[in-house]
Amino acid sequence: MRPHPLVLVHGGAGPWPDVKPERREAIRVALFEACRAGVAAIEGGALDAAVAAVVSLEASGQFNAGAASALTREGTLEMDAAVMRGDDLGCGAVAAVSAVRHPVLLARAVLERTEHVIMAGAGAERLAVEAGLTTEPFPIDERRRAKLERLLSERSAEAGEAPVARERTGDTVGAVAFDADGRTAAAVSTGGIWLKRVGRIGDSPVPGAGLLADDVAGGAVVATGRGEVILKLGVSRTVLEHVAAGEGAHSASRRAVETATERLGDGTVGVITVDRHGRIGTAFNTGGMPRAVLRLGEEEPAWALLAGDHFPIA
Ligand code: ASP
Repeated sequence: MRPHPLVLVHGGAGPWPDVKPERREAIRVALFEACRAGVAAIEGGALDAAVAAVVSLEASGQFNAGAASALTREGTLEMDAAVMRGDDLGCGAVAAVSAVRHPVLLARAVLERTEHVIMAGAGAERLAVEAGLTTEPFPIDERRRAKLERLLSERSAEAGEAPVARERTGDTVGAVAFDADGRTAAAVSTGGIWLKRVGRIGDSPVPGAGLLADDVAGGAVVATGRGEVILKLGVSRTVLEHVAAGEGAHSASRRAVETATERLGDGTVGVITVDRHGRIGTAFNTGGMPRAVLRLGEEEPAWALLAGDHFPIA
């Protein structure tokens, strides 16, 4: 018997220090809504499910994507997103886009309406219009402006290029899904990192780095954390190489994160994985990574936030 279709989501590998009970609850609600949105769409296939989950996370305002995307050091919005289908390697991504409400839908438009994989700039924004997407981004609220001001003033107290301070990374969103036909898909969306230079592109839109879905290699992965680390190590591809070599989703995820820790340090990376047998894996070397999974037919998602929190892996 085939395993149950499922959706596994994350809300970003990062330090997640001092999460107050109200914030914890808001995160839980956002993750649950995303899992439910994903499972509600799973009849259409794994890609529909992963995209629906990420659309919900983008709208939640809880994470660094869509409504709460990180800002560049100039106070502008430059979002990256991607989608990928494991059965045929169909992949679409957008980099540094601002004139779109749901970057993940624009990534899907790249997959479905063009012969390309990654688009940026004016052409990507024209595609949003062509695809009939909402081109007005979520408004930049006072909270985000205030955070930018604070980070900028902390940075001016430092010399030169700001180090990747704890608060600058994390909270990107992603989802992997496994459908009734045993196909997988991945979707990711992010504002990148706070105080990034205008024009910086992270790992999220790059297949093999920020995501990978390849049912021949063995499943789907989404990565989160410091984009520069994930790009250099090709973290999602590393996970699937371990799966292809016979490891389960969880140990493959752990191995890839261990390698990142050894090579480029702690506090850098997280991944979520579903393999072609519908087994899931999560791993991260940061203080936390909000994560939740829901299988078709189950009432409640299982979820966890910090490194020490129990999360059922099956
Ligand atoms: N990986 C994302 C980036 O570097 C950030 C994150 O995962 O929070 O753009």
